[in-house]
Amino acid sequence: MQEYDVSIVGAGSAGLTLALLLADLPLKIAVLDKGPAPELVTPSLQRVSALNQASKRLLSQLGVWQDLTSAAPYTDMKVWEADSFGRIEFSALEQGCDELGFIVDNEQLRAALYNKLQTKTNVSCLFQSRIQNISNSEQQNLLTLEGQGPMLCKLLVAADGAHSFVRQQLHMPIAFWDYQHQALVAQVRTSEPHQRCARQVFLPTGPLALLPLADPHLVSIVWSTSPEQAAELQAMPAQQFNKALTAASNAVLGLLQLESDLSSYPLKMRYASEWVLNKTVLVADAAHTIHPLAGQGMNLGLMDVAALAELIDQQISAQKPVNEQRMLRNYERWRKAEAQTLIAAMEAFKQGFGRQNPLLKLVRGVGMKLTDKLPFVKQKIMAAALGDSGDLPQRARPTVK
Ligand SMILES: Cc1cc2nc3c(=O)[nH]c(=O)nc-3n(C[C@H](O)[C@H](O)[C@H](O)COP(=O)(O)OP(=O)(O)OC[C@H]3O[C@@H](n4cnc5c(N)ncnc54)[C@H](O)[C@@H]3O)c2cc1C
Repeated sequence: MQEYDVSIVGAGSAGLTLALLLADLPLKIAVLDKGPAPELVTPSLQRVSALNQASKRLLSQLGVWQDLTSAAPYTDMKVWEADSFGRIEFSALEQGCDELGFIVDNEQLRAALYNKLQTKTNVSCLFQSRIQNISNSEQQNLLTLEGQGPMLCKLLVAADGAHSFVRQQLHMPIAFWDYQHQALVAQVRTSEPHQRCARQVFLPTGPLALLPLADPHLVSIVWSTSPEQAAELQAMPAQQFNKALTAASNAVLGLLQLESDLSSYPLKMRYASEWVLNKTVLVADAAHTIHPLAGQGMNLGLMDVAALAELIDQQISAQKPVNEQRMLRNYERWRKAEAQTLIAAMEAFKQGFGRQNPLLKLVRGVGMKLTDKLPFVKQKIMAAALGDSGDLPQRARPTVK
């Protein structure tokens, strides 16, 4: 029988970061994933994420940030509503920082985390590993693995993403609603340089984001729209799609041209009502998913695992068990508060911009213009986007100058 202190199911960004955060503690750790091990290859930039300063600080402390060779900083942000005068702009200069955030290749991040983990002798990574059954008691967890026999662990962490197998096996209840949006993702070449500015336009059907990559003429798009329009766009020949995309972006970056395949993701809000069941705990997308319009999902998940690792570290220092119920409930309370704030903010954005009533549009336009002129309000919005607000785990906090 294999025995571990902590077993982490899911080697995505959250699961691998947690393993690395715990690796220097006196713990025996297992990471299991049903897929293959991430490989350090040239980043495809097919799936990217906007990471904020808090995530950068965390990943820098783990010695991973410096390996993200494709991380592209952005220094400005422009948000506007189509067919309206409403717009708001943010700049790093105005915020007194070097950059507002970074566009990071998801696979390169996983590969860099895994690469670091391989130097840790107390962490076993089991890829292409499938769980058949989980039995969760008040003392521990027993996993039955396909072709590998049983595994016993004091603490089981579900980091297995939005469709979490662990959450479903243990019948942990989840609330969800369909955003009625499909996100189309691709790399796009622009005739005008992006000048390291992240742009987002709110169209009547949903937001279109243009995220600047390291190449000054390359952006990653996230076009969230109705499932019907998404299907139409996907069925279009490339030239027709390029025209539709250029028009949707108000040609702010000149002519836009697809540079990769289009991939498509249905968007749902998910929120587990219980994040802890006996000695099992949910983190990141297994606990919550939000609309990508503010690029916060991965940032939120990284802060979940930093919070959990911090509390486990404190338990060990106080010579208390790593799976103590009180500690797990503290984690749940701490991170639920942060997730709820973002879920509510995303809903307000989506609902707010979804309404096409001309009077509401006028009010929104005035509101955005006013906000753009109010440094204090802008500062507050920006602190949240940079990841500098809220109750941050120690390792992600800004250093006091
Ligand atoms: C279109 C789009 C754009 C986004 N853009 C941004 C952005 O700009 N910024 C941002 O912060 N966030 C963004 N997000 C959110 C971000 O992608 C997710 O929050 C993040 O990837 C979740 O990481 P995770 O580790 O929790 O889950 P995942 O990345 O889903 O990893 C889960 C892992 O678990 C494994 N697994 C699954 N089931 C099992 C099983 N049964 N047994 C073993 N292993 C299993 C999987 O193989 C996988 O490796 C975006 C999301 C979408 C859909």
